[in-house]
Amino acid sequence: MPVDLELCASRAAAEADPAWGTHASTTGSVHSWDLSTGVDGPGTRFVLFTAGCPLACAYCHNPDTQQMRNGTRWTVEEVLDRMARYRTFIESSGGGVTISGGEPLLQPAFTSAVLQGAQELGMHTALDTSGALGARADDQLLAATDLVLLDIKAIDPAVYADLTGGALSPTLRFAERLATLRKTVWVRYVLVPGWNDAPDQVARHAAYVAGLGNVERVDVLGYHRLGREKYAQLGLVDRLEGVEAASPAQVQRARDVFGAAGLFAP
Ligand code: SF4
Repeated sequence: MPVDLELCASRAAAEADPAWGTHASTTGSVHSWDLSTGVDGPGTRFVLFTAGCPLACAYCHNPDTQQMRNGTRWTVEEVLDRMARYRTFIESSGGGVTISGGEPLLQPAFTSAVLQGAQELGMHTALDTSGALGARADDQLLAATDLVLLDIKAIDPAVYADLTGGALSPTLRFAERLATLRKTVWVRYVLVPGWNDAPDQVARHAAYVAGLGNVERVDVLGYHRLGREKYAQLGLVDRLEGVEAASPAQVQRARDVFGAAGLFAP
């Protein structure tokens, strides 16, 4: 599948800039933040969306988060101050803090510092990642992470490459490292009709995830077309134009396969 060369070049340039997300930095590029309840971890979450992502998923609902240059520079202290304002409310719901994106591991020093700061505030911490840059998560970052929300977008390497523009193997290596560490993981899987929903793929996906042994929950989410107008607004090609949203029955069938593999897939 063609990958937007201008996007790739801008990401490469951003990554090469030592001011963006190196270990010496205490600032990061932030797209936005929100309070949410649902699939971002237990309870109500303060969710920080970092800017910049090495992938270009065909179903990405927030393609404006894919480039670092679209973010605003925040210091770690500014993030922690903002989180702390909601701490009592969040804690009363059994919630915590989730760092999402974009891809938080594109800025590992910033992400690590935010996770450590949140943990020092006594808050539950979650890292929402595709795992594509899992090798950038050092032991200190993972020690500050109570839960990893791992997006395994397809189990077939060719399908994964078509869907995301990237390689599957770094995500699987990260999943297996987390399993070795016995880190709690929730897996996310967006079901895209005609792309990653073939019955044999779903069965392989479920068997792989069940074999990890550390996955507490699997969220199967149906692809939907809300927000697709962003593609035209940003001048991007909508590679899923003409692909229908996943039906509730399709999503339930996939959930049942994960459930039959012994996984909790609500
Ligand atoms: S990993 Fe997430 S932010 Fe990055 S392109 Fe895919 S869906 Fe979008």
